[in-house]
Amino acid sequence: MAPGGITGRTRPTKPKKQARAQKRKRDDVDVEKLEQAVAELDPKGTYKSFADLPLSESTKAGLKACHFAALTDIQAKAIPLALKGMDILGAAKTGSGKTLAFLVPVLENLYRAQCVGADAGLSAMIISPTRELAIQIFEVLRNVGKRGHLFAAGLIIGGKSLQEERDALARMNIVVCTPGRILQHLSQTAAFNVDNLRMLVLDEADRILDMGFQRDVDAIVEYLPKDRQTLLFSATQTKRVSDLARLSLKEPEYVSVHESASTATPQTLQQNYILTPLPQKLDTLWSFLQSSKKSKIIVFLSSGKQVRFVYEAFRHMQPGIPLLHLHGRQRQTARLDITSKFAAAKHSCLFATDVAARGLDFPAVDWVVQVDCPEDADTYIHRVGRTARYERDGRAVLFLDPSEEAGMLARLAARKVPIERIGVREKKQSSIRDQLQHMCFKDPQLKYLGQKAFVSYVRSVHIMRDKEVFRLGELALEEFAASLGLPGAPRIKFLKGDNAKELKNAPRRGVSPSSEESEDGEQKGEEDAAPQKPKPKKQDAVRTRYDRMFERRNQDVLADHYTKLVKDDEDGFNGDDQAPEDDFLSVKRRIAVDTDTDTDADADPEDTTPTAPPAEAKKTVRIPGAAQALVIDSKRREKLLKSKKKLSKLKGGNKKLVFDDEGNAHEIYELEDEEAFRQRGAPEEQRERFVREARERVGVADVGDKALAKEKKREKREKRKRREREEEGAGGVEVERDGEGADAFADFVRDTAGLVEEGGDEEERPQKKRPKKWFEDEDSEEEGTRNGKSKRRKAAERAEPETLEDLEALASGLLGA
Ligand code: ADP
Ligand code: MG
Repeated sequence: MAPGGITGRTRPTKPKKQARAQKRKRDDVDVEKLEQAVAELDPKGTYKSFADLPLSESTKAGLKACHFAALTDIQAKAIPLALKGMDILGAAKTGSGKTLAFLVPVLENLYRAQCVGADAGLSAMIISPTRELAIQIFEVLRNVGKRGHLFAAGLIIGGKSLQEERDALARMNIVVCTPGRILQHLSQTAAFNVDNLRMLVLDEADRILDMGFQRDVDAIVEYLPKDRQTLLFSATQTKRVSDLARLSLKEPEYVSVHESASTATPQTLQQNYILTPLPQKLDTLWSFLQSSKKSKIIVFLSSGKQVRFVYEAFRHMQPGIPLLHLHGRQRQTARLDITSKFAAAKHSCLFATDVAARGLDFPAVDWVVQVDCPEDADTYIHRVGRTARYERDGRAVLFLDPSEEAGMLARLAARKVPIERIGVREKKQSSIRDQLQHMCFKDPQLKYLGQKAFVSYVRSVHIMRDKEVFRLGELALEEFAASLGLPGAPRIKFLKGDNAKELKNAPRRGVSPSSEESEDGEQKGEEDAAPQKPKPKKQDAVRTRYDRMFERRNQDVLADHYTKLVKDDEDGFNGDDQAPEDDFLSVKRRIAVDTDTDTDADADPEDTTPTAPPAEAKKTVRIPGAAQALVIDSKRREKLLKSKKKLSKLKGGNKKLVFDDEGNAHEIYELEDEEAFRQRGAPEEQRERFVREARERVGVADVGDKALAKEKKREKREKRKRREREEEGAGGVEVERDGEGADAFADFVRDTAGLVEEGGDEEERPQKKRPKKWFEDEDSEEEGTRNGKSKRRKAAERAEPETLEDLEALASGLLGA
């Protein structure tokens, strides 16, 4: 192994090479000394500063450059143990310096083992639940490691092409990553070798070990060598034996520095709650912002859609404080941009989902405002942990609906969270309802966002596990909708027998990758950088857009039409019947869906797992107007659904329709009543009469038309002659000859044109000369309506309408005639 060199870079220049060689020699001595010092280190001793620990010169220099001198409690306890190679379960409050508690041992242990350079391969893997946190960890690693260490470290969080990341990975000694993306590399990159991995770190370990990442983490661990050191850190630590077994920890040391503390949150954090009924939340939030314009604030909401709506609405109202918003559905670059903006801002308000709840270390946040109640006490602790970090002050406010108060307070008390109620000063409280209503009325986009926000909020409450805290039935939803500026509450129905727990975790498990649900949920963006998360069990079943479309759980929202497919929810909430559902989404083409299996199962994400053989997963689609349901059993059939043209063919031939004044549809060529027809005389007689009349009409029209046509012909001829004369005057022989040829051709054209014109019954409208057919109705005989009629006929006779749009155009053409 040749330590020092990092492949992939340009060749080091000679002086550099020499310097490195010297450094290596120095290191060899250094390493020996360090090994001995670590061997002698008392892992349970008391240490006050980094200087008390046997650390390499490079690490010491790095720490010094970052102004880290004294150890925090967790660092003092965890680092000595970790240096000695123990597995660790580290728990300490938010903002207490856990990052260094694992980064320092990573740097040191790899250094002492000289796992440096490309030959060493990947030696440490640090996993974070979110990209933002991964980036932050990487930054700290870089800052501390840049004084002399030669490790190649990198970030694998997606956002770059797989190939780019793959190339970088091949050179890395330390990788900081998100679970989904690293798993993608482990399973897809054949050359990605993790056999030399010595250290695995999970930051926010309880989150990474919870259900959302279960599959990914288990799969990742499968790839890693068993003989490694594992460090788990979180403010809310897992102790579940099953979790630890999954990671095959070897007699881990449980290092919990604040377990005996009287509170689970930092001492410097002041925590309060405000009782504010759901429909007044936005008023209260607005008033709060108005009174704290000179602060740095994070506002937590329960879903990305809520975040977007509140952000957009407040932005329009010019709150006097810079606004930012962060949620999982934003592009990676935007998310990066926003986090760095907020980090740098002095006064700003960031609306965020729980994507920002964990680990992020924004400097000097004054307030954490939880407008939507957190799903559990742990989430609460992590959210408020964005302020009062490392001995700084901070304040947190939780908005509670009266129905949530008792339940949530009990949960918080059980987790040792000290929180007190405060009131809002009446005169500071202002209402923005009218303003919002006005804005939603003027701006359909905003109204649409509001509707989505409403739906996603209600859903988020519905799927909460803790029913003692979240009681949907007790929320004033109609009023809440009005408070968002909506004209009524969008209608929502839920699936029967929704298992709240299942649903809550479903997006985390990624069982319905495209479901709008994930857009709602903070969860989605939170983790996964991998666009196509490899799901080993799923590989055999090919899933298409349409599969996903059919699985989409939000089908039960919005329209009755969709809800036919699922049974009614019986747990209380059925939305409101006056809901303006037509406002919500305009569905162009509605396709009712049946699966071969039970409809309920269709909606249940668990049943879409590939344990069922693909054959059973085939779908039947009823196309309105088609005689038979369409069975989707192949890709080609699925493609067919994409094409309106082909779909319309399935509908057993299109019917052309005209609409009468009452709006009733009629076939264009409707046969008239036979009785009435016969009363007008024998068919043959009628035909003759019709032909005679038509001939007369044409004859009359012809006289005028012919005169007109002659006149035009004459004009044309004169024009041509004029042009020829001009050309003759200018041109030579060649032009003359060309002229002759052209003349002959012009004559020919003129003749054919003449033929056409001859029969024309109206200028420029040669087709008008067509005698009226016998089955055309009476009023078409009136000269006055001729033009209109012909237009109508033109529309009606347009080539077979092929698409629905054609049909629409046809209908409107007929109507507008
Ligand atoms: P946690 O992961 O426990 O929430 P972090 O590791 O993010 O906390 O650290 C919180 C803050 O404390 C960071 O801004 C970090 O720079 C600072 N910090 C960590 N350790 C020390 C230390 N030993 N001395 C001074 N500041 C520290
Ligand atoms: Mg942290």
